[in-house]
Amino acid sequence: MLKKITDKIYCLPYERENDRPNLYYILGEKYSIAIDAGNSFKHVKLFYEELEKNGLRKPLLTVITHWHWDHTFGIHAVNGLTIASALTNNKLREVQQWKWNIEAMAEREKTGEDIEFCNQCIQVEYEDLNEITVIPADIEIEDKIKIDLGGVTCIVEHEDSPHSRDSLFIYVPEEKALIIGDADCEDHYENNGMYDKNKLAEYIKYIDSINFKHYLIGHDESESKDDALDYLKSQLENCM
Ligand SMILES: [Zn+2]
Ligand SMILES: [Zn+2]
Repeated sequence: MLKKITDKIYCLPYERENDRPNLYYILGEKYSIAIDAGNSFKHVKLFYEELEKNGLRKPLLTVITHWHWDHTFGIHAVNGLTIASALTNNKLREVQQWKWNIEAMAEREKTGEDIEFCNQCIQVEYEDLNEITVIPADIEIEDKIKIDLGGVTCIVEHEDSPHSRDSLFIYVPEEKALIIGDADCEDHYENNGMYDKNKLAEYIKYIDSINFKHYLIGHDESESKDDALDYLKSQLENCM
């Protein structure tokens, strides 16, 4: 069920067993945008049905927070145009070449190209692996853009993060909200599921410099800025 987070921000909540992330929706007077495309056609369909039930029009733009499957395999099914960082699109063009069968997936686990957790969740989401469709986003950004939705603004910025190199952050100043995708999680692809101390320290500095109240993350409930910073600082102390 769609949840209202602030006056202009809504969320279709995450699901654990198929690793679906929160899908966010920002309501403008001129048009609306979504954050993340979800993990499949079915996920996008559910999102749009929930929007319709709440009298909200489909998003004209969808911003992708990072390349991981659970945030991008719905790109082909979204309404309107998609925006991603150039690094996200580079990676998606690579993933576009991947084969989707049990053997190929197991092989990618061996080579470290992909991880076991994703392959397990993909098999929960997709009864038929042939339905997997990967495409890059329509619009690529290198650093920062500002989008005026009418009465509300999104500042979309690319930054490195502890979770992946290609992260996009979406800051909505009028709502004092920062949407980060999975950016504050450990890195399961390049750092064995651990935090890199320097990246985490940089990340803490980055979000601390932004004036927000609502910290909107990929796979859990939203948090306050103070709670998020307290947690991340405690993780930094534990870093080697
Ligand atoms: Zn995720
Ligand atoms: Zn991720």
